[in-house]
Amino acid sequence: MLDRLHRDAGYQRGVELGPYPLEMLTSGEEFAPSAPFQTEVRASRPSELARAAELYTELFLASATQPSAKPGQGSKDPWVRAREVKAAAYYLDAAHVGICQIPRCALLGRKTEKPFAAVILVEYGCDIEPDNLAHTWLQGCEHVIAHMRAVEIGVSILGHIRALGFNASIAIEGNDEYCLNTLALQAGLVQRRETGVESPFIGNRFATVAIITDYAMACDLPLAPTAKVSKARFWLGINGATSGRELRRRARRASHLSRYPMEKVRRKDNPTTRIYAEEVPRVPKRAEFFMRARMGDLGQKAQEEVRRFAFKHPLTDGMMYPLRSMVPHQEGAAVEVHDPTLEDAEANAQAIRSLSYHLGADLTGICEIPPYAWYSHGPDGEPIEMRHKYAVVMLIDQGYDTMEGASGDDWISGCQSMRGYIRGAEIAGIMADFLRKRGVEARAQTNADSQVLHIPLILLAGLGELSRIGELVLNPFVGPRFKSVVLTTNLPLIADKPIDFGLQDFCSQCLKCARECPVNAIPFGDKVVFNGYEIWKPDVERCTRYRVTNPRGSACGRCMKTCPLNKALTSDGAWLNRAGNWLGIHAHSLKKWLAPLAIVLDDKLGHGKRNPCKKWWQDLEIIDGVATTPKATNEREIDPDADVSGRKSPVGYYSAADNPAPNATEPVLANHKAAIARATSIESVCGAETRRRESRPVPAHYTPTPLLPLRDITDE
Ligand code: SF4
Ligand code: SF4
Repeated sequence: MLDRLHRDAGYQRGVELGPYPLEMLTSGEEFAPSAPFQTEVRASRPSELARAAELYTELFLASATQPSAKPGQGSKDPWVRAREVKAAAYYLDAAHVGICQIPRCALLGRKTEKPFAAVILVEYGCDIEPDNLAHTWLQGCEHVIAHMRAVEIGVSILGHIRALGFNASIAIEGNDEYCLNTLALQAGLVQRRETGVESPFIGNRFATVAIITDYAMACDLPLAPTAKVSKARFWLGINGATSGRELRRRARRASHLSRYPMEKVRRKDNPTTRIYAEEVPRVPKRAEFFMRARMGDLGQKAQEEVRRFAFKHPLTDGMMYPLRSMVPHQEGAAVEVHDPTLEDAEANAQAIRSLSYHLGADLTGICEIPPYAWYSHGPDGEPIEMRHKYAVVMLIDQGYDTMEGASGDDWISGCQSMRGYIRGAEIAGIMADFLRKRGVEARAQTNADSQVLHIPLILLAGLGELSRIGELVLNPFVGPRFKSVVLTTNLPLIADKPIDFGLQDFCSQCLKCARECPVNAIPFGDKVVFNGYEIWKPDVERCTRYRVTNPRGSACGRCMKTCPLNKALTSDGAWLNRAGNWLGIHAHSLKKWLAPLAIVLDDKLGHGKRNPCKKWWQDLEIIDGVATTPKATNEREIDPDADVSGRKSPVGYYSAADNPAPNATEPVLANHKAAIARATSIESVCGAETRRRESRPVPAHYTPTPLLPLRDITDE
């Protein structure tokens, strides 16, 4: 009981068990349907949204072309394998996952040479109220959207198994080789009913796919036909699964609100950190540090590693294919029609939020796009046109449970980013495609290809405040544990206001991320004004170099993992954390006293340590195409005893004037010593305020590096 004070209900629940407590149902020993229980393909209403979801389903299916790798050094233990495959699918948002040997009665065609099936069920998204415009958009499309998500997850898992060196294919609804209902029965996910099959938890509101493979895994037993959910246990969430209480709380919230009470957070006209809008220089994509690594500005090692650093683990390797398949579809021409139902900005804003939540976004906000939030030039140096008025900014949670099991810079770290990116690209891509089909200009701005800077847009859309981590916004409910995706559009919308939940005070006193960063990339000191933003400026070069070349893991997100705001804050979360969160949002005047207490308690209670029960992945690295046991793994714990008083970490500053030219095609080596020396020219917050009061000009280093003349590039 005392544990529940500071540990969430699911602390002891393995990720491979999933959000619903299937394990509490009795299993049946025998299962032998006499004939295949053919899956019906549930029809969708033909609509723009259904067509957008079908397009993405086709993209994912077409992306699964990679051959199986040579067998690597992954575990031969069927339990380890099953745990990883199931947890990976749950991590990617499956509702139920089960594994079975394929019974003869599930075969619709000839004998299979791949004896195992991993069956994946995806639940429909949230319902949308009839008086919400999105209700009409979505009507009859719930199944096709869930099916698209099931295919995305299935293709990622299939890629994972192939990267481990085994054969795998995907069976989707309507296929003529495998009966998915029979497989779902055999894998213990559903029970037979007169009208078909049903899950004891989600009824028939799901879509199914199965991965058919020769990768031998431990199998689940079918559910006993009489197995029933214990309502009280489910309601209380006794086994650590998402409780009935929490599910009801979510279902009772209006569909345009997220699952978190963002509407209770104080709103302001401006973000809590100054942005001198008229001074902020527009920067080119070429200046972005991952791009610089790709172009060779960080040296040969970083240039080689940047292409694979996030995809080193077999699961991320599997996700890479569906992720890349979406990029060409982010952009497109809008159909030339005028839709009179899309003229009401308020109704549109409500509907677009509801749609985003139905598709799987965790938090959504809207803002107008200021000029400085557009990159000045694209990756090839072509000018970027500011075409759209609004940004719909969406945050995707990277997964609390998995982050609990990780050190933040081990072998799952890159996968945590990719989970956010794949989900975000899919949601924004479908929304953009849908709007274009309705005659509205729209573009998905994803991590793979974005014309806008996400950080200022997240701030302006009221989804968070700028944190000590620097170029990272923290949300009051998911903390730093998210990736963002943006939909830019000319759909008439109403913008949100920025929020204030007292983070500036909190981060001023808390140094945990700076203490825990493996390469000292986060400042211990005060905010500065950099390129027109008031910010704790991190050393982006040091951070990028580490993430790209990390030899004991893939990428890094240790600052996110260890931040005290990385907590589970649903009604299944720990009481102390929820109380702290409530006070943080509502008791601003007490913050002075409460913040130091919260910071000390966070360390004392061991938050930020790894929870072994949540580690489900195998530590593997793909080397020369083969999954190999890595030489070492970052297995760090937090270091509360580190003396950080007076500690400094010199930061390298790369101002607008020090960036490579937007069209530079040759490496422009980053000079870290010179970047550190630039600290003397960076203004303090007071200094910038004084300069502005005295109407002195902006510092010279705000002037962006101009384009190289065409001749110089041709000569190169
Ligand atoms: Fe440091 Fe890793 Fe965070 Fe970068 S991502 S700032 S290297 S902890
Ligand atoms: Fe702010 Fe502390 Fe989180 Fe760093 S670890 S971002 S200082 S709250």
